[in-house]
Amino acid sequence: EAVDRHVEHGKGSNLALRWLGRRGEVHDFTYNDLQIGTSRFANVLADHGIKRNDSVFSLLGRVPELYIAALGTLKHGSVYSPLFSAFGPDPVRMRMEIGASAALVTTKALYKRKVEAWRNKFPSLKCVFLIDAHGEDLPPGTFDLASEMERQPGTFATADTRPEDRALIHFTSGTTGRPKGALHVHEAVVAHAATARFALDLREGDVFWCTADPGWVTGTSYGIIAPLVLGAVMIVDEGEFDAERWYEILETHKVNVWYTAPTAIRMLMKYGEEHARSREFAHLRFMASVGEPLNPEAVMWSVRAFGMPFHDNWWQTETGGIMIANFAAEDVKPGSMGRPLPGIEAGIVERQNGTVREITQEDQPGELALKVGWPSMLRGYLNEEERYRKCFSGDWYLTGDLAYRDGDGYFWFVGRADDLIKSAGHLIGPFEVESALMEHEAVAEAAVIGLPDETAGEIVKAYVVLNPGFSESEALVRDIMAHARKRLGPAVAPRLIEPRNALPHTRSGKVMRRLLKARELGLPEGDTSTLENDR
Ligand code: AMP
Repeated sequence: EAVDRHVEHGKGSNLALRWLGRRGEVHDFTYNDLQIGTSRFANVLADHGIKRNDSVFSLLGRVPELYIAALGTLKHGSVYSPLFSAFGPDPVRMRMEIGASAALVTTKALYKRKVEAWRNKFPSLKCVFLIDAHGEDLPPGTFDLASEMERQPGTFATADTRPEDRALIHFTSGTTGRPKGALHVHEAVVAHAATARFALDLREGDVFWCTADPGWVTGTSYGIIAPLVLGAVMIVDEGEFDAERWYEILETHKVNVWYTAPTAIRMLMKYGEEHARSREFAHLRFMASVGEPLNPEAVMWSVRAFGMPFHDNWWQTETGGIMIANFAAEDVKPGSMGRPLPGIEAGIVERQNGTVREITQEDQPGELALKVGWPSMLRGYLNEEERYRKCFSGDWYLTGDLAYRDGDGYFWFVGRADDLIKSAGHLIGPFEVESALMEHEAVAEAAVIGLPDETAGEIVKAYVVLNPGFSESEALVRDIMAHARKRLGPAVAPRLIEPRNALPHTRSGKVMRRLLKARELGLPEGDTSTLENDR
């Protein structure tokens, strides 16, 4: 759908992917190029004994090989799972274990830092392909992807997958326990294409830039699949956020449709409206935002800076595609996530003793829920039937977000119903951070919350109780911080760590993160009837 179909329709020489390297390199890939590359990659997998339904992971920055590996895996019929390259070794290992990774595509440095140490304890991992190590440089047990691909033919008969066959695993964080591997099937492609057309106004030939990293669901659904299925030109920037660089990309590469996130928009706002106004964004037609609440001021700002508004839309890893959006043909309601897409029924519900009741009154907050049955809906969490079942009640899928609907049918985000933290668009599970902190010899107990931050939406703050024999000092806090960054990577590690003598617990022994947060922010403490003591 994303590659070969265009070649068969005589559009093989159309531009598919323009890759912008960190150092200013520009590499163009036509649909023909992608057809050959993905076929070679699929042949490499087959040649190394990777079977249908095996999982193929990538641990890569935004480099061309990631896109070839993703599409080549789908072509081969195995299951693709992208990992964020800034994850530390713990999140990488845990996700590859849950996903029973059979193959990994990565770089030499990432392999050495994050995988090599535990590789031998991981028998399901049959092969590791490195994109940048050649000849004698190769660490033992790894293959050089480029020379493997060179040996393979550039044709491959695409696996005859069924709609319900596994296609993608996206990891998302939970409040407790291990991260969840959300499973998506091949039929999801129908939703990827339809929702990009409805909510992003994306059309064939458009130059489209989705700034999300494919390590997160947006960067796969809309950073790989949807634009290629629709025959658009996909811009991929290897570099990190930089206001001037971003404006340069929008202008030079004549971007028509731009999909980004509130944290980046807030950084552009800080940089100053005049920088955007001094540019010529003559080709820009539509701008959209996702991942966190988009403040009304950001929408107003975008009208002044770009002459058009950002269109906020809402979805999550589990929904696989955009569910609620401000549409091109309707007025944007600044601060609102928009209205459900055609075919999507959204409601506000209240959980009541194992069932749910729909709240039909306007402006009344409750949990955002969706009627089940859209093509890109998750089909399970890997090996976690119970957790998956808990997402549903009757024919409602429960999102874990709190929201309300206004009289015009627009949905407004209120907050999360759980303790998950959204920092710079990344969903972070407090439990995973707490576990890593507790690996430090000085830490007896840890509790992690999100604190509001002007730019990142939220930042991660940790409270730690020290083990006997350790006393509070700046040096110790720095050491715990360094440990957390090393284990978790900078995107997930806490920004602030505060030692405490005790943490508040429920009678059943759970740390009351919500209470810590209320105290930190000076908010009402709410129901503390289950509070045991601050021990
Ligand atoms: P993820 O699964 O990592 O994509 O995160 C999904 C979560 O991000 C949602 O459940 C929301 O809490 C949040 N989110 C996504 N889009 C929006 C939005 N437009 N406004 C507010 N929150 C959002």
